[in-house]
Amino acid sequence: MTPLDWLIVGGGVHGTYLSHALIGRGGVPRDRLRVLDPEEAPLAAFWRMTSATGMKYMRSPGVHHLGLHPYDLRRFARKAASRGIPRFSPPYERPSLPLFRAHTDAVIGQQRLDQLRLRGRASALHRHGAVFRVETEHGSLEARRVVLALGVSEQPHFPPWAFPHPRLQHLFAPDFSRETLSSGPVVIVGGGISAAQLACALAPHHEVRMVVRHEPRVHRFDSDPGWLGPRSLDAFRRTSDLGARRRAITEARHRGSMPPEIAAELRLSLRSGRIQWIEDEIHQVEPTPDGLRLLLRKHPGPLDAAHVVLATGFEPRRPGPLLDDAIPRLGLPCAPCGFPRLPPSLAWAPGLLVSGSLAELELGPTARNIAGARSAAERILAAA
Ligand SMILES: Cc1cc2nc3c(=O)[nH]c(=O)nc-3n(C[C@H](O)[C@H](O)[C@H](O)COP(=O)(O)OP(=O)(O)OC[C@H]3O[C@@H](n4cnc5c(N)ncnc54)[C@H](O)[C@@H]3O)c2cc1C
Repeated sequence: MTPLDWLIVGGGVHGTYLSHALIGRGGVPRDRLRVLDPEEAPLAAFWRMTSATGMKYMRSPGVHHLGLHPYDLRRFARKAASRGIPRFSPPYERPSLPLFRAHTDAVIGQQRLDQLRLRGRASALHRHGAVFRVETEHGSLEARRVVLALGVSEQPHFPPWAFPHPRLQHLFAPDFSRETLSSGPVVIVGGGISAAQLACALAPHHEVRMVVRHEPRVHRFDSDPGWLGPRSLDAFRRTSDLGARRRAITEARHRGSMPPEIAAELRLSLRSGRIQWIEDEIHQVEPTPDGLRLLLRKHPGPLDAAHVVLATGFEPRRPGPLLDDAIPRLGLPCAPCGFPRLPPSLAWAPGLLVSGSLAELELGPTARNIAGARSAAERILAAA
């Protein structure tokens, strides 16, 4: 069989947007491109995680979406208004999650992006001359160009004291659902935007306690908007020391933060006593007949919970176990933190490209976001 021109591994926000850009802007024929992903539908992990939190509005502005033109979502919203979908929240015209989803579904439907998908998981990556072979559980696929858009959704972070228990779940685990939590006190571990949104969503029906290592951190975005342009990126790119780039990314990310309107909503619930904010660290958790008992470092007594939900984000390591053996086999260069060492074209090797967190050391702290998907696609299109 003739090899594909493009195989995108990962069909989340990044892989789906790139497939749109390559077809719509790059003129790649539809039958020359495929998106490999284990999920049933595009962006499945993103929809699952965003609905788990109970978030109502996107954190990012309305120009960040899966359409090709920055104002596509705004134009779509004019029509959507008549369908009763909530639209934007000021400032920065942040779209509601239902609007963002309706627009994404429309883009996927109009461009038939779902038809480009192959269901499966890449388990190994080999090179034969100018062609890559990707092994999956259904056989192998060959392509001249492979783009890794693996995301981090499959690597939720579990604190060291956590252990497998039906009442101890990660917010971003595929089987987490707010609706299935039984009545009784819920402890949420973490104090960032997702923890706060979950707390506000649960507060009307549950006694909620948030155990957080720090006081609330309020930031509009997860990194300063200067990182979307030359203001911060020029100096970042001039630094050839990748350890320094990693430190710059870590410093630039407002980890565990929430935007002002979520902080305001949370404050109301804290004042009314429906949510309790406990600044402390958990050092031990024990099962009880009704759930779990948490022992904290400073809190005088234990906390009993019917459910403990971890809103502790993702593991900071490089995504994709398939890379662990591909890196030495293909001689792919890595920084001391394990992430790809990349040129501006995002080509890790000739014909092997990356998007998302794998492109972080070149695109900076916004690489994982929707804006990062757009920047990565621009670089990949320019080089192709
Ligand atoms: C709750 C939440 C809210 C967010 N809100 C915003 C926001 O408002 N604005 C913003 O810009 N960003 C936001 N983000 C950040 C970011 O946009 C999302 O995390 C987004 O899902 C990243 O997309 P992705 O395609 O890189 O990763 P993922 O969504 O993780 O998708 C990657 C896909 O690759 C698949 N995959 C992994 N390994 C393999 C393999 N070996 N073979 C084949 N497929 C594989 C996975 O199964 C998955 O389907 C948010 C993130 C979260 C968690």
